Amino acid sequence: MTMTIAVDASGRVVSINEVVRGLACGCRCLECNEVVVARRGLQLRHHFAHASKKDPCEVTPESFLHRYAKQVVRESLGLQLPPQPGHHPDSEDQSSWWDFESVKEEPWMGDFRPDLVAELTDGPLLIEFACTSFVDEEKLERIKQLGIRTVEIDLSGLVVTPSSDGLLEIRRVILHDVTLKQWLYPLPEVVGGDPLLSVDSDVQQGPSVHLPERQRFTIQGFWVDLRVLDFGSVVVRSVAFSPAIAELLKRLSRKYAGRYVAKYRNWMFPAWAKAALQDELEALADGDSSGLSRVGDPCSQELVASLTTESQPDVNGYLDARLILRQYREGLAPACLPYGEFKARHYGIGLDCDALEDFFRDSGVELLCVEVVRIAGKADFVYVLRR
Ligand SMILES: [Zn+2]
Repeated sequence: MTMTIAVDASGRVVSINEVVRGLACGCRCLECNEVVVARRGLQLRHHFAHASKKDPCEVTPESFLHRYAKQVVRESLGLQLPPQPGHHPDSEDQSSWWDFESVKEEPWMGDFRPDLVAELTDGPLLIEFACTSFVDEEKLERIKQLGIRTVEIDLSGLVVTPSSDGLLEIRRVILHDVTLKQWLYPLPEVVGGDPLLSVDSDVQQGPSVHLPERQRFTIQGFWVDLRVLDFGSVVVRSVAFSPAIAELLKRLSRKYAGRYVAKYRNWMFPAWAKAALQDELEALADGDSSGLSRVGDPCSQELVASLTTESQPDVNGYLDARLILRQYREGLAPACLPYGEFKARHYGIGLDCDALEDFFRDSGVELLCVEVVRIAGKADFVYVLRR
């Protein structure tokens, strides 16, 4: 992979087009922090190379997105924001550009540090970026106590390319896309607000107020809510963020034509998926006190701990998907795979599904579906395949 972005001497994320040639660029690699040289010759595409001549690093979005987002707002001294709760602008476009006088990065405020604090003529604004985790209840409580207006910018769903063009696109989205931004304080108004966000208010509601039907499942210690909207669509949402639950919901969305709605941090499914989703979530839920019959559900059979070895399927008849991926990489698969229909188990969420599914596709192994199973009390995914 060609490295076209790096960090300069002042800690800024820079693209190859913004720096001077050679060692004089004063840059380091985003991933390994080694000194890099800017190669801007006539022959090759402009890029950074490690001064030590070692192979280029694979630059991942996690290593620069959060840092770059802060940099963009600091340098732009402003943001396009949705209307602050309680404000009702007259204009058709409800969002507006907010100008900042200055922006501080991660200053201490009592016992916590927001990502950015912007100073405006009428007081401060806190800005939080969500890359892999959202502001949790505890932090939200502190923000409420401080009583300082706060927005959160959701970067988790961005498709990011670590290149010069990629940086420009991220910059544009962070500054101008209001769908990624939501007010944490003041709280969104309940009247006319999003009914999906008022998670815990149903209990006190009178019978005259029609609220979507909701079911709550506890999966790996996290609450996952399923709601059916008036028009039949099904919304699934993890109440707190967990990478494992996010992965699980992503898998379910692939299987049942769901899509992620970044603004509300939930997954929207078509009406027909309701019963299947309820079954899947029920099967994944912690404990076994549901009382729901699972007769006829292949996942409910008493599955015993796995005994997979290098050469044979486990006691449930599953092959090991991690092993199959390795075999593809070593050139042994698909030759070593069985003919006809067979199943391969993921063994957790560490599997590089995209790589393996590419191999399947390229070698004519058909991926029929992904099943969710419980084995020894833990949820796992199983590919159903045909060769
Ligand atoms: Zn490196």
